[in-house]
Amino acid sequence: MPLPNNIKTNASYRVPDSMKAWVLGNPGELTLEDKPVPVPGKAEVLVRIDAVAICATDLEIIHHGPPAQIQGGDPFNKNFTPGHEYMGTIVALGPSVDEFTIGERVTVEIHAGCGQCKRCRQGMYTSCHNYGKNYGNVDKGHRANGFTTDGGFAQYAVNNINTLVNVDDEMSDEEATLVVTAGTAMYGLTELGGLVAGESVVVTGPGPIGLMGAAVAKALGAQPVILTGTRDNRLEIGRQLGADHVINVRNEDVVKRVRELTGGVGVDYVVECAGAPNGLNEAAQMVNRGGKICLAAFPNSSPEVDVAYLVRNNIYLYGIRGEGKAATHRAEAFMRQKRFDATLIHTHTFDMTDLEEALRYAKDRVEDAIKVVVKNPWVQTDRIAAE
Ligand SMILES: [Zn+2]
Ligand SMILES: [Zn+2]
Repeated sequence: MPLPNNIKTNASYRVPDSMKAWVLGNPGELTLEDKPVPVPGKAEVLVRIDAVAICATDLEIIHHGPPAQIQGGDPFNKNFTPGHEYMGTIVALGPSVDEFTIGERVTVEIHAGCGQCKRCRQGMYTSCHNYGKNYGNVDKGHRANGFTTDGGFAQYAVNNINTLVNVDDEMSDEEATLVVTAGTAMYGLTELGGLVAGESVVVTGPGPIGLMGAAVAKALGAQPVILTGTRDNRLEIGRQLGADHVINVRNEDVVKRVRELTGGVGVDYVVECAGAPNGLNEAAQMVNRGGKICLAAFPNSSPEVDVAYLVRNNIYLYGIRGEGKAATHRAEAFMRQKRFDATLIHTHTFDMTDLEEALRYAKDRVEDAIKVVVKNPWVQTDRIAAE
């Protein structure tokens, strides 16, 4: 179906009628299929996907379902395309869009939110009260691409203009896919946590969010920034990204060491990215009285928590979902200023046609994979067709 007349296009970026897209069937089953190219609505643009980073949450969704939610239920066999950490090029503008132009390189935030609930009105659109309500008679227009609407493992996706972040010309496609990860860390530390320069931070777990958490904390002026984990090679990357101290929890008593490094009192913030069974209790022991614990990992079990300790010590506890309050724009600004080198966490690149192999690298951490990126191999063909 050709695009309607009220959609702006440009001859340099030919938009085909159909596209290749990975579609989720049964749990763990992906197939490369033809889908119609989606049409942007009001306040939306069409993005040609150039690169997508694979996230641990993609693996959760593909194998188990949540936090994806399609038509009020699990995402299986619903013609759903996952993938949420993508960047690309704007190739068509929906009606009334003049905030962006065709040809601009952008990276994306995942959540657009409904725009009409209390949390969306506060800028906390990742906690939209109408999460997943975008179908049938409960259509509130909520979008979280790759979670509740089609995502980036495809040639094209529709994005609300509020989810777009311009990318610096010097930033590679691969690096641009990491902006949203840094934006999530930023949201946890500043917008939700209220971190100011000179405060101290422990980040537990050197996965992508943890590593970006250490980098962003340092760039924000935190002092000291302490990163804990079990793999020396990842801790070393954390040090290069800005951690002042790294602690391998296999070799040292992590609570004792954190207290030693902070004059016996503990840190102002713990960002828990490890999801370890005792992670929360350990975080409570590492944070100082009146300090804050940001929970950023999904543990597999519900461990027992020493609530009395949290109460006695006035410890604040908050979960973080995604990248609210436009924190992603501020993260991009740090990366644009080269305040840290996010490319240190990008380890592998595959063609999007090799998505299954790329997912295997991410899941099994083949060759110490941290961030695996897939690139759109059809971009070249588009260009030839346009000439
Ligand atoms: Zn993610
Ligand atoms: Zn909302």
